[in-house]
Amino acid sequence: MTTSAEGGCLCGAVRYRASGPMVVGTLCHCRSCRLASGAPSVGWACFATKDFAFIRGEPVAYASSPGVERTFCGRCGTPLTYRKFAEGRTVDVTTATLDDPDAFAPTKEIWVGEKLGWECTNSAMWQFAQSSTGD
Ligand SMILES: [Zn+2]
Ligand SMILES: [Zn+2]
Repeated sequence: MTTSAEGGCLCGAVRYRASGPMVVGTLCHCRSCRLASGAPSVGWACFATKDFAFIRGEPVAYASSPGVERTFCGRCGTPLTYRKFAEGRTVDVTTATLDDPDAFAPTKEIWVGEKLGWECTNSAMWQFAQSSTGD
């Protein structure tokens, strides 16, 4: 099991490090993730906040819902993180921005109820109509 990971945006201006193990990996089909990324679904690797740090540059933050902060590179636009401040113990990182995304494969598909009609689900993953944690 990989216990340390780095990643960053397309242009390289922002880099981060997650120094602990991934808590959970999800693939999200919600409309908010779709619009924040411009992609039909978004993979998220969840890490403990205490294990996560930006190590180069500073991303731009955007409150996509009350109490929720998404960050992205202000230069190239790559979406980087998602945080819910009421639940400050974890931060979600876009799986695709990790240097080795295949080492952090998601196991759950969430918000399948908002999925685009032409987007397929993966039968190898757990499926949840909404959030897998009920929040
Ligand atoms: Zn960038
Ligand atoms: Zn989402």
